[in-house]
Amino acid sequence: MSTAPVTQAKAPMDEFNPFQAMAQRFDVAADKLGLDEGLRDVLRTPDKELTVSIPVSMDNGKLRVFTGYRVQHNFSRGPCKGGIRYAPDVNLDEVRALAAWMTWKCSVVDVPFGGGKGGVICDPRQLSKGELERITRRYTSGIMDILGPDRDVPAPDVNTNEQTMAWLMDTYSMHVRRTETAVVTGKPLALGGSKGRTEATGRGVMIATREAMKKIGLKPEQTRVVVQGSGNVGGIGAMMLARQGMKIVSISDIYGAIHNDKGLDVPDVLAHLRQHKKLEGYAKAEHIPSASQLELDCEVLVPAATENQITSKNAERIKAKLIVEGANGPTTVLADQILEKRGVTVVPDILANAGGVTVSYFEWVQDRAGYFWTEEVVNSRLEQVMTTSFAAVEETARKYSTSLRIGAYILAVGRVATVYQLRGTYA
Ligand code: GLU
Repeated sequence: MSTAPVTQAKAPMDEFNPFQAMAQRFDVAADKLGLDEGLRDVLRTPDKELTVSIPVSMDNGKLRVFTGYRVQHNFSRGPCKGGIRYAPDVNLDEVRALAAWMTWKCSVVDVPFGGGKGGVICDPRQLSKGELERITRRYTSGIMDILGPDRDVPAPDVNTNEQTMAWLMDTYSMHVRRTETAVVTGKPLALGGSKGRTEATGRGVMIATREAMKKIGLKPEQTRVVVQGSGNVGGIGAMMLARQGMKIVSISDIYGAIHNDKGLDVPDVLAHLRQHKKLEGYAKAEHIPSASQLELDCEVLVPAATENQITSKNAERIKAKLIVEGANGPTTVLADQILEKRGVTVVPDILANAGGVTVSYFEWVQDRAGYFWTEEVVNSRLEQVMTTSFAAVEETARKYSTSLRIGAYILAVGRVATVYQLRGTYA
């Protein structure tokens, strides 16, 4: 490997473009690793991008066409792996970035997968269950040529869940004329899902937080936590952190946030959410706007919603000493620079939220073996993967005198680069 100059960005830097954010961190890691320009190009470029149109008969009898994507970023280390999200603002650059983040995430925790991601432009809140099922089935049939247990294995992501995965698995299985449970993870338990998968991302966030707190000397009983989000990652993450003895002082949904400096009763908040679908009306806390939530007084901030939440516009005002990224890409590159200068520790997404894909890997292994593990086995193996990976990232960051984020990228990119070089280029 030879030392190469820093890659020049081809487009002007856009703080909010997630693919550029991924590429910028990748380049810093590639510089530290001394990767040559050709190899950088290979590792940065998605292997395959598929755009499909999804015609769907709506409940009102009209036809509507949705757009869906599946991006396979890199399969050097194994089948592509990554979720499918349903949201109105899904776009190809975002899906590309998310696919690349999956490659690095799987590599950080050393599970034998590459990275992929999918998305459908739609607003699930405006769709009936039947419409969602028809979108999912038609999207699956549109991308199924590139799916398969040995090719590309989707999972849930923003606004998709185990029901979505069950429809995907069934559609794929009907086409291949056999029940193929290992084509997707995050399935219902009755369909070959894994115990502990639903809680896995939140549990991983808790483990990453606990390890980072040890590193900076924060004690659980003196720690106030703000959690942005209340879904599969934020809600379950908050519950797990509360069980560790931390005080969860704020939680949010897409409409706003609640705050109680004495600490929220997390199971009670989640029960309210299950019943009312929003935090609105929750009586035992003050209601505050989403934007001010991130700037609340606290020791730990867990952004567990979406991209570009901590930016050059608010990074200066963040009070937390520790940020643990439950979401993918919540902190921009400019915000990273401000936070680093201010001495705020950031546990990066590709490590902090890797508990989900780790248990997805366990699910895939169990499906292929046809032999299922107890919840204790799943949780203790997850614990081991997360703590080992945290230590490896910390060690890499120390060795290269960088942030944990760049340490994680160096570790991840280095592993993928090694595999690529061993395999060589097929001509
Ligand atoms: N969507 C999750 C993520 O961003 C899980 C992916 C998976 O399990 O394949 O990590």
